[in-house]
Amino acid sequence: MAWKLDLNRYCERHRFPVGVLGGAYILGIAFLDYATGTEVSLTVFYLPAIALFSWYYSRPYGISAAILSTLLWFYGDFLGGRWSAHPAIAYWDGSALLGFFLAFSMTLQNLRLRFKKQQELMITTQRVSAEIQKIADMQSQFVSTVSHELKNPLGVIRESMSLILDKLAGEVSGEQRKILEMGKNSAERLIRLVGDLLDLSKIEAGKMKLRPEDMDLGILVTDVLKIYANEISKKRIVLQKEIPPNIGLLWGDRDALIRVVINLVNNAIKYTPEGGCITIKLTGSAREVRCEIADTGPGIPKESFAKLFNKFERVMVERQEGTGLGLAISKDIIELHKGKIWVESEAGKGSKFVFILPRS
Ligand code: ADP
Repeated sequence: MAWKLDLNRYCERHRFPVGVLGGAYILGIAFLDYATGTEVSLTVFYLPAIALFSWYYSRPYGISAAILSTLLWFYGDFLGGRWSAHPAIAYWDGSALLGFFLAFSMTLQNLRLRFKKQQELMITTQRVSAEIQKIADMQSQFVSTVSHELKNPLGVIRESMSLILDKLAGEVSGEQRKILEMGKNSAERLIRLVGDLLDLSKIEAGKMKLRPEDMDLGILVTDVLKIYANEISKKRIVLQKEIPPNIGLLWGDRDALIRVVINLVNNAIKYTPEGGCITIKLTGSAREVRCEIADTGPGIPKESFAKLFNKFERVMVERQEGTGLGLAISKDIIELHKGKIWVESEAGKGSKFVFILPRS
């Protein structure tokens, strides 16, 4: 392959000597044609030279090579006395051959043009994707820097409000408490958003390194459910668990996967109405572990499935507060583990989020 590419490059770069060689080749074939007489037909041997001029030179060169080859062939064979029967046959054969050579040359030139266009398109695409990647990197770097800078002051604001609410700076009236709690909640929301943005920019920049270990997804899910036990009972949600004790180990990053399960369970609780039901089911095979988290919430219309896992994508924004980043982060984490995550749902009939993780 390498020598072919080099030959191609040589022809592209040294067009003059290659052209001289091509011309000499045509003359050589014409001489052979003449010398061997009518017994031996050398018509096809003109084709490489016509191909050379059609491919590496402009259209007039290809056409000239075709005409020159026909003329030389015509005179070679004519002088060789091939058409002693009737000269009209010579003109007829010459025209047919010229037609064939011209068609051959044109086809090659068209192919060459298409090939060139494709090459240019490829180069442009590569350039554009490199630019896009550069902009994405800059954007990710910007988000990461800003998020970092925001995180600490936001933490200080939240803690200061907590201190005032805890009466460390004196008595707090009912009205003041309400206002301070609103401020504290907003600071907490911002801290969550900044944290999500930081994580996402880390994942997108390929800086998130997994720290995998042998872990039991059943234990992880049970631990997450313990965190949410209070909220589940407050909303009088019925929790159905199908978590077999012998689900087995998988090779994964515990902290990252906790994040995924927390996000899915949190969403299920958030979107399930009071008195609804959440079902969590784990199954395992030799190769993978599957986790399903189903709820009896409002469900998700099918047309939103594809964009649901995109950043900042929210379907029923007015109903619940959120950032629209949780599912995007979950998808990235699952894919970093070479797993898959998807949703099954119908509007009005609840949702089921499913992910599978390979064991190793
Ligand atoms: P957030 O919940 O913070 O808005 P997510 O990325 O976790 O962000 O979810 C994106 C969107 O997916 C949500 O805004 C919501 O519209 C939809 N969604 C997620 N989970 C559920 C669910 N269990 N039931 C209905 N809609 C859901």
